[in-house]
Amino acid sequence: MLPPKRCPHNCIYCPLGRTSIKTMKPTMLIDPETVKKEIEEFIQVNGCIFRNILLWGYGDPLLNYHTPLVAKTIRDIINQYGCKSSIRIRTTGYTLGEKWASPILDIVDEVIIPFDAAEDTRQVINDPMNNAKTSLLIKILKSIPKTYRRKIAFEINLLKINGIKNSDPPTLDELTSHIGSTGIVKIYLKTINRPSWKQMIKPVRGKLFARVKDYLVDKGYIVKECISEKHNTIVLSSDLEEALINHLLRKPLSTDEIRATYGDKGVVLAEKMVLENLLDKILWGQKLFFKVKQTIDLYKWIGR
Ligand code: SF4
Repeated sequence: MLPPKRCPHNCIYCPLGRTSIKTMKPTMLIDPETVKKEIEEFIQVNGCIFRNILLWGYGDPLLNYHTPLVAKTIRDIINQYGCKSSIRIRTTGYTLGEKWASPILDIVDEVIIPFDAAEDTRQVINDPMNNAKTSLLIKILKSIPKTYRRKIAFEINLLKINGIKNSDPPTLDELTSHIGSTGIVKIYLKTINRPSWKQMIKPVRGKLFARVKDYLVDKGYIVKECISEKHNTIVLSSDLEEALINHLLRKPLSTDEIRATYGDKGVVLAEKMVLENLLDKILWGQKLFFKVKQTIDLYKWIGR
C-alpha cells in the first residue's frame, strides 16, 4: 500500500505518521502482479536472504481487497525459489471476519494485532475511529475458528506520554481481561525504538519492561520480546534513491540501520536528501535518525 495512509487507528507511535484516511472500509489498492515482479527480482539478485516477510502497508494491509491474493502470490514465489521464510501480516483485525479476508488465515504463518491498552489509555495511544471498539475486535476474534486463532498474536507497544503509561498495573489488568477472553496466548512485547509523528513519547525499558513481561508470563501468556537482528546488506535492482525513500516512508531509519541495509552509499544519499529538503535528521535516544519530511509532496517527487 502507498500513501495516503489508511487505518482505523491513528497510533501516536505509528512510524508512518498521522493517519490520513481513518477507515475500516476496504478498497482495491495494489496490483499483485507488481508485488510478484518486485519480489522475483529481489530473490534473483539477493537469493533467499530473508527469514520473515511482513505484510504491512501504508496503514492496515487488510483494507486492501487484494491482500489475500498478494499473500498467496508471495507464498507461491517463495515456494518456487525454495526460500524458507515465514509470512506474517500486521493488521488491526477489524476486517478479519469478512469473507474476502478470511483466506489470509490459511496463507500466512502469523497474524499480528496491535493491542496496546483498553478504555481511556487506548483512546490516547491508538486514537481509534468511533466504531473501532475493543468489544467489536474481541467479537471478531472470538468468531474465528480455534485452529486459525492459534495463528494470531497480539503486539503490545509499551510507552509513556504525558504521565500516561500502558505499563501501569490497572491498565494491564484491563488489557489482559480482554486478551484473555479471546483464547489468544501469544504476545509480542515491544517498546518504541524510533521517533514518531507525536512528540514527547518515551520508551519503556529496563526493570519496568521486565516487570510487564513477568506479569504477562505469570498470567500464562507466551511472551516474545522484540529485538533487532543483524542482517546482510542487500543488492537492489531498483534505483537506490527510490528504495531508500520508500523504506523511509515506512519508518524513520537510524544511520546504522541505513548502513546495514544499503551500505555507506545509503548514508551518503540520506545526507544528500537532507540537503535537498526531503528528509529531516533527528537526534532521538542518542541516535541520529533520518525521517521523511511531513510536507514532502511524494507524487511530485516520484514524477521528477
Ligand atoms: S494500527 Fe499500525 S498502521 Fe495503524 S496507526 Fe497504528 S501503528 Fe500505524
